[in-house]
Amino acid sequence: SARDPHQPEFMQAVKEVMNSLWPFIEKNPRYAQHGILERIVEPERIIQFRISWVDDSGQVQTNRGYRIQHSSSIGPFKGGMRFHPSVNLSILKFLAFEQTFKNALTTLPMGGGKGGSDFDPKGKSDAEVMRFCQALIIELHRHLGPDTDVPAGDIGVGAREVGFMAGMMKKLSNSAASVFTGKGLSFGGSLVRPEATGYGTVYFAEEMLKHAHQSIEGLTVSVSGSGNVAQYAIEKCLQLGAKVITVSDSHGAVIDKAGFTHEKLAALIELKTQQRGRVEDYARQFNLVYEAGKRPWHVPVDVALPCATQNELELEDAQTLIRNGVRCVAEGANMPTSLAAVDAFIDANILYAPGKASNAGGVAVSGLEMSQNSQRLQWTREQVDTKLHAIMRDIHENCVRHGSEGKSVNYVNGANIAGFVKVADAMLHQGIF
Ligand code: NDP
Repeated sequence: SARDPHQPEFMQAVKEVMNSLWPFIEKNPRYAQHGILERIVEPERIIQFRISWVDDSGQVQTNRGYRIQHSSSIGPFKGGMRFHPSVNLSILKFLAFEQTFKNALTTLPMGGGKGGSDFDPKGKSDAEVMRFCQALIIELHRHLGPDTDVPAGDIGVGAREVGFMAGMMKKLSNSAASVFTGKGLSFGGSLVRPEATGYGTVYFAEEMLKHAHQSIEGLTVSVSGSGNVAQYAIEKCLQLGAKVITVSDSHGAVIDKAGFTHEKLAALIELKTQQRGRVEDYARQFNLVYEAGKRPWHVPVDVALPCATQNELELEDAQTLIRNGVRCVAEGANMPTSLAAVDAFIDANILYAPGKASNAGGVAVSGLEMSQNSQRLQWTREQVDTKLHAIMRDIHENCVRHGSEGKSVNYVNGANIAGFVKVADAMLHQGIF
């Protein structure tokens, strides 16, 4: 930490992984050799650059762009781009570090990376977003390639932004090779990619509950966030007969005791993706309770799915959820639960899944998008969804294999050890550089 004194999120992510690995490495000392631990926490390469673009009023705007190429040990760098004013080096380094282990867990050959900008797409016109994306790629294109680095979406980066970036990439490289995933269906995108992270999170929660001889059917669920991951987590919950009673955004939470219906969900998706509105407008539309500035964790539920952002569920929230009888917490977002809150869940024997296991469905289907692009084929919805479901089951089994402690499963240890072993083995075989 002396090296990175101003990177609290990165330190938090490294600490969590190292806490899990320590007892494992004491039993398997070969993984402490050849500087594996020192090397695995250091990104292979970081690119930071200026992005200047002209807004609709003719003013020049300047943002900061980044790409963290964390690890290529098991495949090309792979991970999303995030556009949000809070983006900084610490947040992207934590995300790239986590991504490396997550991608290893998917069983697909993908290394880890992450990138983004402090650009805020909110309130910008389509033309401004396009000019910004093009300006970003004018620099980043030289560092990307189908076998080098393949970015995707994340917070603030959806189909629109990926389309603009992939378009400029094609123009500058004079090649149709696929260097983005999450593309539109008309130019190489995969069916089920938009749904994949949310669906996968619920598939994972279902597996945890099954392993504990319970079913998700009939349970009540709180979801935080209202973006891509939240929307499709809600859809899968509805399909499996669970009742979702909350959503939120960065301004507040909506509580709906009657629960989501397919009709309400369609309205929420329309509002968030087409009109780029707020959940407050959604609450008004359906006459629901809206709590400004609040998170949804005080509402009693059986299952909690944090799907918004990092550190949105803190110790006090965890204690409230536990007091209210929560059984299962599966992260759709990356590191939404603070370290103290994670410990509280584990101490209380709650089924708790860290994002690197439970939200890996998104990057897994990105991997399947790359396979389809290489084959020059498009698989059906059923084919992709079946593979996604199988991958989530595999990740669950792998967590159980490495995380079983007596009768219970520590999914944090399971995911960290399983992901680490794959990356470390690849590093050991390829020599020191
Ligand atoms: P979106 O941009 O579609 O949605 C983000 C949601 O989180 C919005 O509801 C947003 O509210 C809320 N949010 C963002 N920042 C904050 C903040 N600082 N405080 C409170 N709420 C906030 O992003 P995604 O749904 O794609 O991503 C959500 C999470 O899932 C992220 O942690 C991401 O890294 C993770 N993830 C995403 C994957 C994917 O495939 N998309 C894959 C794996 C993980 P508002 O509308 O007010 O901004």
